[in-house]
Amino acid sequence: MKLLEGKVAIVTGGTRGIGFATVKAFLEQGAKVALFGSRKETVDIALEKLHEENENCQVIGLHPNLMNAQEVKEAFQMVVKQFGRLDILVNNAGISQRDKLFDYNLEDFEMIMNLNVNAVFICSKEAAILMKEQGGGVILNTSSMVSLYGQPAGAGYPTSKFAVNGMTKSLARELGKDHIRVNAVAPGVIKTDMVAALPDEIIQPIINSIPLRRVGEPEDIANAFVFLASDMASYITGVILSVDGATMS
Ligand code: NAD
Repeated sequence: MKLLEGKVAIVTGGTRGIGFATVKAFLEQGAKVALFGSRKETVDIALEKLHEENENCQVIGLHPNLMNAQEVKEAFQMVVKQFGRLDILVNNAGISQRDKLFDYNLEDFEMIMNLNVNAVFICSKEAAILMKEQGGGVILNTSSMVSLYGQPAGAGYPTSKFAVNGMTKSLARELGKDHIRVNAVAPGVIKTDMVAALPDEIIQPIINSIPLRRVGEPEDIANAFVFLASDMASYITGVILSVDGATMS
């Protein structure tokens, strides 16, 4: 039995990295998936790769501006028109920035907050409207290990992820009565393009500081999303699940 058989999911930032691995894992577990990306070109490339692996996979791609409530509403309506319902939303799209405070300008800070927080709010609200009507659903957010302790540069990013944790816990409390579960995964250092490109002398000390002695794979996070999205996690809500090899535990 597949864990997400018959479920319909939206994954934002689904074109690469953790988002793409999550789309693949959801498809493998029987879900129908709408992947959202920032540009048509990258969405098309991601769809092509998925169809090369399995020509029958049930996936569509859209590229709404996640910070525009009207565009998001229309995109969610297209998903429902295509697949009939919405059971799972994974808020994964996110950006980071590591400037020190005195070089950090308000525009950059706002750019991070707009995508990492405002878009999560916009998408979660739209999903909750549909899920309440249907009788339930699951909203999953992508936090970060830096949401627990902060980091010594790029204050906007951890600030945004603390906000994601706050939204996760608050919406879990607010939406529980509507049978909507809301959880977050807090990844450690994950081998997406940026980390994979780091030279040995930078990556090795990082690995040495991780109790499990390896960086995470995108699939490690995707698997946590599969579990939290599935009925196996039916009594879990309001949780920030660290998937970081105990880096911050
Ligand atoms: P990535 O840069 O590989 O992918 C980011 C995704 O977000 C892409 O699909 C991209 O299209 C999308 N995106 C970026 N800007 C966008 C915009 N303006 N509008 C819509 N979509 C946009 O990133 P990743 O490493 O896979 O990270 C995914 C999530 O995981 C992020 O929320 C990130 O903060 C979080 N995270 C990553 C790590 C890590 O080590 N990689 C660690 C902790 C948390």
